[in-house]
Amino acid sequence: MKKLLSSSVIFFIIANFLCFSFNSCDNGKTNYSNDQEQLRETESKSETKETNPAPPPEPIVIHDNDISCPDSKHPHVIDLGKAGKWSCCNLGATSPEKSGGFYAWGEVNTKDIYDYYRYKYYIDFDITNAVYRCKDIGEEITGTSYDAAHVKLGGNWCMPSYNRFKRLLKYCENKPFVINKVYGILFYNTETGNSIFFPWAGTKELEFHTGANEYGNYWTSTLYTRDKDGEYDIYRLFCPAAYSFDIKSESPSEFNSLNGSSRAAGYSIRPCTK
Ligand SMILES: [Zn+2]
Repeated sequence: MKKLLSSSVIFFIIANFLCFSFNSCDNGKTNYSNDQEQLRETESKSETKETNPAPPPEPIVIHDNDISCPDSKHPHVIDLGKAGKWSCCNLGATSPEKSGGFYAWGEVNTKDIYDYYRYKYYIDFDITNAVYRCKDIGEEITGTSYDAAHVKLGGNWCMPSYNRFKRLLKYCENKPFVINKVYGILFYNTETGNSIFFPWAGTKELEFHTGANEYGNYWTSTLYTRDKDGEYDIYRLFCPAAYSFDIKSESPSEFNSLNGSSRAAGYSIRPCTK
């Protein structure tokens, strides 16, 4: 966690001196290109192996229409079986590949600049301990007035908890995917046959949008505590971090992990239903 704090502070300082680029997303016709030729080839090979007494496990075949939206009137509720029901879009997005809004943890509105000093629950900076102090808004904010998905969408919509993301990882397959030149991860539930797409939407730190088409960070509704990771958490005493669901393109080993992140950062939110 100290590393996280140090990294965050260093980033904020460095970010003041660097110019970041933002890769805007195309708004053209939807193109669910995902190695269809390769998939057809795989299917063809499977047919030739019908006489094999011990065929390999059937591959997950993702088709053009496997983004499970029935029409273009997003957002939709997508049933992912034991992983629960999720929105097809990020909060504030009008289609599955769009970034949507970026939110600091527990804030319900987007803003122009994301840092601790502009964080709604910031109290002050403790010079002695070199930590930011923030208001305690609870360890689990799903369904509360701090839940942007619930406040914006109403009804049963809410931010997914740490455990909800664990269920997503447990009960869905996933693979890199691209829609309209926007890269991300497709989560596919074999029980229902439905899938949802998480774009690598990047993040917002200070006034900069970085990481589009490289990674995505999605808030959980759950505070980062030592109960879940087994290590002492200095943020627990001052300004605790919150768990984020992080998807990255850098290396497969870093795909889809839950980590403690600075609450002041601007991350995406993918709503789910209770
Ligand atoms: Zn949809």
